[in-house]
Amino acid sequence: MSLFDNAIRSIRIGLNDYWRDDRLVSSVRNLYAGILLLFKHKLFILSADGSNAALIKQHVVPVLDKDGVLIWRGVGSKTIDVAGIRSRFQSLGIDVDWKTFDRISKHRNEVEHFYSVLSSDEVAELLADCFIIINRFLSDNLSLNAKEVLGDEAWEVLLHAYEVYEFEMEKNESAVSSQVFHHEVIKNIFLEFRCIDCSSPLVRPSLPGIHAESSSYYCAECKAKYSYEDICSMGVMDLYKSVFYSGYDSSCPFENCNACEQGLYLKEFQICTACGPIN
Ligand SMILES: [Zn+2]
Ligand SMILES: [Zn+2]
Repeated sequence: MSLFDNAIRSIRIGLNDYWRDDRLVSSVRNLYAGILLLFKHKLFILSADGSNAALIKQHVVPVLDKDGVLIWRGVGSKTIDVAGIRSRFQSLGIDVDWKTFDRISKHRNEVEHFYSVLSSDEVAELLADCFIIINRFLSDNLSLNAKEVLGDEAWEVLLHAYEVYEFEMEKNESAVSSQVFHHEVIKNIFLEFRCIDCSSPLVRPSLPGIHAESSSYYCAECKAKYSYEDICSMGVMDLYKSVFYSGYDSSCPFENCNACEQGLYLKEFQICTACGPIN
């Protein structure tokens, strides 16, 4: 059986079993394994002829072919792990939403190693994440139609999970958008924010429709709590992380606010996260 057939088979089995408590561990394991097999299939078809599927092998050695041209050939039977897939995708320009993948991976670790039972919300989120990864990867990187490849039944399970998730996302966005923010950039920080504990995007105000700094915030998934300041500080760091990674000796784009001594002053926008516009 080919890598691709195995991938699809594994995903289908996972989708058949997700609703059975006694099969949840194997269901999640199958979904995760299926996604990795899809990734490997892509690397397999990109591997050069005569390279012994070099791109999916952990060990690759340079050899000369019969014309004396250098090629990289895979040796041994060990295939690459997730970190290997990630770095090869990166250098090959293959796009995967790794944040979403990491959430699937986290849920898999939980059921696998801690035998924790996922709540029905977590199972729904896991399936929605699988939808995003599987659907996009099949269409963007393999030019395939997920519905045709998976079959109607499995497709429906995934699609339904995603629709529920989308509905939740919209609810969340409108809850955040109902708040009054000092500036659009701060609102965007809140819309982009992901829970630190579970990386869920569903972090909501406990009191919607008021000034953002007057409300506390909570993760709809794991119930982690955040203050307005917490989200601002983490969000500002995220907003400017490229500046920190760039290695240039550029001056910091924000500083502690001199006016209120509580918020962060964003120089570019002349705005303080706590006290608003400063001229
Ligand atoms: Zn959370
Ligand atoms: Zn201030």
